[in-house]
Amino acid sequence: MPHYRTRAINLKSHNLGEADKIMVMYSREHGIIRCVAKGVKKTKSSLGARMQCLTANNLLIAKGRNLDIVCQAENLECFDKVKTDLTKLSYSLYCTELISHFGTEGDSNSAGIYDLLFETFKNISVFKTTEEVLWAVLRFKLKLAEYLGYAVELETCARCNKTEQKYKTYHFFCADTGGVVCSECFLKSRKTFEIDNRHIKLFKDALNYDFPFESEYFDKNLLFSSFNILKEFISLRSDKKLKTPAIIELLC
Ligand SMILES: [Zn+2]
Repeated sequence: MPHYRTRAINLKSHNLGEADKIMVMYSREHGIIRCVAKGVKKTKSSLGARMQCLTANNLLIAKGRNLDIVCQAENLECFDKVKTDLTKLSYSLYCTELISHFGTEGDSNSAGIYDLLFETFKNISVFKTTEEVLWAVLRFKLKLAEYLGYAVELETCARCNKTEQKYKTYHFFCADTGGVVCSECFLKSRKTFEIDNRHIKLFKDALNYDFPFESEYFDKNLLFSSFNILKEFISLRSDKKLKTPAIIELLC
């Protein structure tokens, strides 16, 4: 039976009979993969803890006729601090829901997307405050959108492609079009949000830096409003309703 090796993060699992599970994972080499983890529900299973959600492993996988089979899992990271904090867990599950939903088998950007998810969980693990966690998730959403070909437009009007003349800066973000819009196009746009220079600067910095290095970024209102703008932006590009945003709203 042919085998292959890949690094993968567990996104979710489904029970298969009494002892097995079907694992849905995001792999660095192949994008979304679905594999059977045999005997994983038995207490003495050697795979056991390594098949928990939000865990990264280096896997040896056997090619199966229908589904591939996990033969060995060498743990790379458990992200334990993500799993024991409700806020961190909810935001991390939101990230995995986005990857499950937008990721595909054989993604051409699988290495970048895997590294982004790994970095995001690592940062959420070590970050201490909700503001830092929000920053990690904002960065994740912006960069994931780039990998998926939906990069947000922050320089010129996303509708007419011109630079804002009247106000010299942008005061609206259009979630539908996917970027800042000028004062003229605002009147013709739907799903718009009021923004100011701080949002634009935050989006640009979150794309470039993995830590909120300026004190202005420790402003919950700015971070939550940015989070909600990008939540709408991403929801509009999804053909089904995402479940985790409702859970996150309960925490806010
Ligand atoms: Zn315009």
